[in-house]
Amino acid sequence: MDKRNCENCEAEYIPKVSTQRFCTAKCKLANHRLKIETRSETRSETRSNDNTNMITEEILNRILAERDKAHASEMAKLEAEHKAQTLETRLTAIEKKMEEGEKEEEEIGGFKIADIMQAYTIYQQSQTKT
Ligand SMILES: [Zn+2]
Repeated sequence: MDKRNCENCEAEYIPKVSTQRFCTAKCKLANHRLKIETRSETRSETRSNDNTNMITEEILNRILAERDKAHASEMAKLEAEHKAQTLETRLTAIEKKMEEGEKEEEEIGGFKIADIMQAYTIYQQSQTKT
């Protein structure tokens, strides 16, 4: 019979039977053990893949939650800026009126000017802090 290479150690050998795949019984056993190990490894890999998917989903949810939170705070910031801008515009208008000697309005949108001025000062202070 022709020479063959052992499927386990790749050593050249002359087979005794046509179905022989390994040089020795030792190699046959070693290869058989390897197959079992590979199979169980594949199973544990599949399990860890499931875990990975779960983790990925958890992380994704966390990222989405973070994004929503960031978006909400961004919106709050924009809203605050818009309010401050509106306030500034109104205050400028009042200052102009005062300069022109017109009678000043006591309230804007139901708020006393003094309160708005105070709120605006607090806002400006908080802006310089951050
Ligand atoms: Zn061998």
